[in-house]
Amino acid sequence: MFNIFEYLMHLQNLDSIILNQKRKIVQKNEEIGKIQHHIENKKLEWENYRKLYDKERIELSRLELELKDIEEKLKKSQNRLYSGDVQSGKELSQWKLTMESYEKNKSNLEDDVINQIDKVESMNIKEKEKEHQLSIQRLEKEIESLKNDIDKMKSELAHNLQLRTSATQNIPAEILSLYEELRKKFPDPVVEMDGDNCRGCHLGLPSSIAKRVRKREEIIQCPNCHRLIFYK
Ligand SMILES: [Zn+2]
Repeated sequence: MFNIFEYLMHLQNLDSIILNQKRKIVQKNEEIGKIQHHIENKKLEWENYRKLYDKERIELSRLELELKDIEEKLKKSQNRLYSGDVQSGKELSQWKLTMESYEKNKSNLEDDVINQIDKVESMNIKEKEKEHQLSIQRLEKEIESLKNDIDKMKSELAHNLQLRTSATQNIPAEILSLYEELRKKFPDPVVEMDGDNCRGCHLGLPSSIAKRVRKREEIIQCPNCHRLIFYK
């Protein structure tokens, strides 16, 4: 009988290792999921930044065109004066007003262009793009290393499952199925007797049962929690 308890303890140890490994694999997969989500978010953020940058660039081009346009108008207007097109005093004062308004427009537009250039440059698009790509690469490397960990864990798990199969072969079928049933309820279906107490539920065992456990001749279950109790 004592041997069976050794086998059962061995099985129980293996089962806790196996459970642990399965949990770790789940955890690592969850980590991968989180990182992938993080990557999606970063890509989306980057796309939005890129779109904003393009918008500002387009605005800059628009302002530059407008400035060019006003410069041409100014030139044309100046030419009118030189070509002698403006003759009367009334025409001259009209011409001056137009020129003033063009000049004002031009100066405003020049400020706008400078501001817009600052805006576009301060977006540091090249640097940001590099940063973005580096951070994606870093996250992808993390995933890669987690996947390697999982592969390693899976092969360890497969090995332990094999060990488990051979461990069960030493245990009589009815005791094994009892163990499997209890295992659904407890992580430790097999416990050592602690004084006269069950180490699982910590309740005292009737002395007749404690005596039988000490004899190590049969499989005894705790009358309270039904764990299998053994005595070393
Ligand atoms: Zn108990």
